[in-house]
Parts: sequence; C-alpha cells; structure tokens
Amino acid sequence: MPVSTLHAGGRWEYAREGAPTTAALEEALGALEHGTAVAFSSGMAAANAVMDLVPVGGLVVAPSAAYTGVAVRLRELRDTGRIRLAIVDVDDTEAVRAACAGAALLWLESPTNPLLQVADLPACIAAGRDAGARVLVDNTFATPMLQQPLLIGADLVLHSVTKALSGHSDVLMGAIVASDPALAEEVQVRRVLLGAAPGAFDCYLALRGIRTLALRVERAQHSARSICARLVDHPAVSRVRYPGWGTIAAIELEGGAPAADRLAASVRLWVHATSLGGVESLLERRRRWPLESHVVPESLVRLSFGIESADDLWRDLDAALTATLTASGSTSD
Ligand SMILES: *Cc1c(COP(=O)(O)O)cnc(C)c1O
Repeated sequence: MPVSTLHAGGRWEYAREGAPTTAALEEALGALEHGTAVAFSSGMAAANAVMDLVPVGGLVVAPSAAYTGVAVRLRELRDTGRIRLAIVDVDDTEAVRAACAGAALLWLESPTNPLLQVADLPACIAAGRDAGARVLVDNTFATPMLQQPLLIGADLVLHSVTKALSGHSDVLMGAIVASDPALAEEVQVRRVLLGAAPGAFDCYLALRGIRTLALRVERAQHSARSICARLVDHPAVSRVRYPGWGTIAAIELEGGAPAADRLAASVRLWVHATSLGGVESLLERRRRWPLESHVVPESLVRLSFGIESADDLWRDLDAALTATLTASGSTSD
C-alpha cells in the first residue's frame, strides 16, 4: 500500500516512521535472519544509521577492503574526528582480536566485496563481544540462505537489499536486522531522523524477490562452483577467488587491467555493470572506480552469477577470456 500518511490513531501514521508494506518486508527479513529488521532506502543508508550510533570519538574496527562506500564513509568520519578507526584484515583473526580492545563497534564483512576474504566469523564475533564492542556483519554476499550471523552472536546484520534479496536489479534498498529488539528500536529512530525510509512500492518488489531467494541462490551457487572450477585452468586467468560456496567470485587476469577491460567489452551474455545478486550475471573490473581500495588488484574482475544456463555462461566467458589472450599479443592498442 503506497502511502505517506495514514489515519491518525492507528499502528502507522507517517511513512518515515513505518508503513504496512515496509512492515511486511521487515517481518520477512527478521524471520530470515532471526532478529528484528528495519528497512532503509539503501544499504548505505542502513550503514550510516549504525555508524551514527557510535559515540563521539568511539573506536570502530573495520575490514581493510570493506565495501567501497562503507570504507570511504568510515574514513570520512575518522578524518573529521567523529570516530577513531582501526583497519584489519578480517581473515586474520588474531589481528581482529587485538584491534578490538576498547572498541565501540566491530564491523565485519564476510566474504568481503570484492576480494572474497572469509573471516572466521564465530571467533571474530566472540572477540568483539568479549571486548564489549557491538558487532555488525555485512551479510550481503552470503545472504541468510548461506549464513546467519545473529545465530552465532552478532548484534547486527546489514544487507544491501538491492542485491540478492531483491534479486532483479530493480530496487535500491537496505536493511539492518538486530538480535535485540531494543537495539532495533534505536536503529529505527536513526531511520526516522536521518530520513532514510524506503518507498512502499520498492518494499513490495523486494518482498516479491525474496519469494524466490532460495531458488536463485541455489542455482547461482551451482553455476559459480562449476564455472570457477573450470576458470582455475584457463590460460587467461592468473587467480580465481572463490571461497567454495556462494554466488560471487573474482578473477585476476594474466593481461592486467587492459585484458580485464577487454573482457568486459566483449562478453555478450554476461552484462558489464556494477552491482551483484541479480537474476542476470554481471561482471566488472572493480578498480575502474577511483575510490575502490588500492589493495584490490587492477585486473580483478568481480563475477556475480545469475540464473542463466551455466553452459551458456561458461561459453560466453571462455570466449571473451580467450579473446583477451589474442588481443594482448597485438600492439595496436
Ligand atoms: C552494495 C553493497 C552495499 C551498499 O548497498 P547499497 O544498496 O548500494 O547502498 C553494502 N555492502 C555490500 C557488501 C554491498 O555489496
């Protein structure tokens, strides 16, 4: 029901605070992640609401290659003196543990975007909690189909609902799911005051997308596994980053950034575009974004597997990769 205002005296009055379709989506997200959900107008809006809860001067521990928007925003908050920031490699549990002393917030992402680093989540979450920090896990890559961080002790889960949850590249939305309803209430107040409420029609689209989440993830994961196994032996590929599960992978190319750009320009079924988690398979060279972390290799191409035929996806990728080998031998470009 797309509305901004409702009759006075009912459960909902004004859509920035909540609305029927938003509540239906939040109920579904809460059930999937085993907590209380608050929907936002984007993943970044959700991220900012949680950052806003950090006390002035509070220490935030965050991954060296967190999602670009999150990494850049945290650095901005550090540079203006709003927070202190400790950067860690999330796959180095001892480093995470050491950095957590005195922290207000431990920000985890696993697998990370786009390096596909996997954190030992139970150990890292415990380290954060032992230090008295609030622990957030960005669960956008895994989705609640593959990993449910609140069940292993995290306080908060972040989703870019834009990605696999909505699943059709037609919605921009985010969510926070909290293990404690009182914490969800604090997050909800941030949404009201920051003005980051999602639109009702978008909530409807996200709800419809979630109905097929399990099927889409199963299919995409199957394709990702079989294609990554074949990519390992491809002469154009120098490295495959794939944790062995999930729907996202990244490859590095023998021919460097020029080969990655050629690959992006010559695929026909794969779509050259940013974002991930849609029904269509997407790829992009991440370093084409000036703000992307410099720890991400220049030739790294992120692959988001969709639900097309795995054979068709392989044929297209194989042909485009092979073309980068021939082209890199020429001196014309
Ligand atoms: C896309 C993404 C975000 C940001 O979400 P938006 O909906 O684009 O604002 C945050 N974290 C991860 C891991 C993402 O992939």
